[in-house]
Amino acid sequence: MTAAGVAAMAATPTRMFPQTEATDFPKPDTPDAAIKLLLDGNERYLKKGSECMVNLAALRQATVDEQKPFAVILTCADSRVPAEIVFDQSIGQLFVVRVAGNIAAPDTIASAEYAAEELGVKTIVVLGHSACGAVKATKAGGAVPGQISELFQYIYPATVGVADLQAAVEKNARYQAAVMRGSSPDLVKLIQDGKLSVEAAVYNLGTGKVTMLPPLKL
Ligand SMILES: [Zn+2]
Repeated sequence: MTAAGVAAMAATPTRMFPQTEATDFPKPDTPDAAIKLLLDGNERYLKKGSECMVNLAALRQATVDEQKPFAVILTCADSRVPAEIVFDQSIGQLFVVRVAGNIAAPDTIASAEYAAEELGVKTIVVLGHSACGAVKATKAGGAVPGQISELFQYIYPATVGVADLQAAVEKNARYQAAVMRGSSPDLVKLIQDGKLSVEAAVYNLGTGKVTMLPPLKL
């Protein structure tokens, strides 16, 4: 361990983050290990707040030439759902795609495909959240300003007939994950080979907890 690493550990002896060197992050080699790393990070966030936002200068330097994120997080643009903080991950760990309603649409699917094919992420997590305005607006229908309604076509199929907003949020995350899962032959092949998973989860704005959701068959 470097002197800087020793000093960092001595300064924070109770840290739970499994990082022993400034740039020494765990690299999961299976989808299940990637999900565990995310949920462990959410536990740290719940118990003690973020612990990984340290050594940022060293991390920047270590990731200038190459990135090796282990997960894609497709989540809402909502300001209350900051993916790195929620999962207690730092620079270079998460490939985050954010769009209102966390929709699987051509642009977001292409971004996830890049991360899966070129960067080797082990899991794609579609993360919805409680009280999602995009889901709420889709359910309400009616006129909205500008191009906001462009989003509705992607969310509507997931929420039609679902009265409760929280149930609609969860159904939407599961639906978008199902769309993502079958969106391209490349992703299907990685999933079949056990190299990638596509999961749905929901974030509670009030408690900060991430809960995994069961897969939805389309
Ligand atoms: Zn939202």
